[in-house]
Amino acid sequence: MIKSIDEVRIEGKKILVRVDFNVPLDEEQNVTDDTRIRESLPTIDKIIDYGSIPILMSHLGRPKGEPNPKYSLEPVAKLMLEKYGYDVLFAKDCIGKPALEAVNRAAVGQVVLLENLRFHKEEEKNDIEFAKQLASLGDAYVNDAFGSAHRAHASTEALAKLFDTRLAGYLMINEIEYLGKTITNPIKPFVAVLGGAKISGKIDVIKNLMDKCSSILIGGGMAYTFYKALGFGIGKSLLEEDRVEMAQELLGETSAKNVKLILPVDTVVADSFNNETNYKTVKSDSIPDGWMGMDIGPETQKLFCDEILKARTVVWNGPMGVFEMENFAKGTYAIAQALADATTKGATTIVGGGDSAAAINKMNFQNKVTHVSTGGGASLEYLEGKILPGVAALEV
Ligand code: AMP
Repeated sequence: MIKSIDEVRIEGKKILVRVDFNVPLDEEQNVTDDTRIRESLPTIDKIIDYGSIPILMSHLGRPKGEPNPKYSLEPVAKLMLEKYGYDVLFAKDCIGKPALEAVNRAAVGQVVLLENLRFHKEEEKNDIEFAKQLASLGDAYVNDAFGSAHRAHASTEALAKLFDTRLAGYLMINEIEYLGKTITNPIKPFVAVLGGAKISGKIDVIKNLMDKCSSILIGGGMAYTFYKALGFGIGKSLLEEDRVEMAQELLGETSAKNVKLILPVDTVVADSFNNETNYKTVKSDSIPDGWMGMDIGPETQKLFCDEILKARTVVWNGPMGVFEMENFAKGTYAIAQALADATTKGATTIVGGGDSAAAINKMNFQNKVTHVSTGGGASLEYLEGKILPGVAALEV
């Protein structure tokens, strides 16, 4: 059983909180997108409300086990103070004297932020001695870093297990609730919409959802490998030659299991891979030689949207086309709109992180769907049915 910070009152304590503050920084070390910080503020506030002191731990980028000012979390401390008014004590190392001094100095109402965990190679090695040094700073452990939960690192796994009081923060609880429970026990009809570049990255998702879904809608670059499996010409479209056989097997398996695997019926093709180029819509079995599939066509948009609007549960992962280019973003935006409409009709709609979350955010639809996952890799692994080490470590 996983307990939340609502279920266990942690009063007057020092609480180690693993957050995902892996935010983008510009050349001047300014945070360019603070979504990840903002999303953990309710957890931080709750701990302060309990009269406890949050000791925040995070990684940022890939400093490869060595201190590197380029990946310092100090800009995050600055932003928390300047933008959100938190009284932050920044510790220049996450363990040892600097960390201990900051923790000892902190009073109720203040927040401690430790320097990047990955300045120590032991973090990614899930090293128990490193975890013990972190553990010595606090009395209890909270994990709110869903985006890092698919990694068994010292701060997500070894450290959690050193505490009897190990709890999930609000962000983590939401992810477990929607990506875990809703998808494991969906109200039917349950429709999965999958897109993105490659089948290879989504095979396990398709396999896992096959037993639960009423239909699986496939768009994006991966659709063309399925076309190839059906014997269609695909021009210069994205193809994973070594996955054609697997696509054939998946088509066979879904029909045996009575799951509808729906492929695009029309596709927008372009004569080169850029926005300012010639493009047109063709039937899926009529992609001309030398052209490449860039987006789902209008007929497919309608087909997919109708299916989504019939659903009680929808999960979406991966764009329907090269949505970074305006001319090939229409399919992806149509799906985002359909999810918003389905939500209004009472469906539970879940956007599984990564590029589909970026598309939803670009349209400002975050509040028009039930849940947008914060974790790219972590949410994909959840959809694959995997147990995430950082989630499993919270079980008591
Ligand atoms: P993924 O990380 O697997 O979800 O893939 C996301 C990427 O897939 C985005 O950058 C899209 O531009 C890309 N993508 C989607 N559709 C296509 C397509 N038809 N051809 C090439 N790339 C695509």
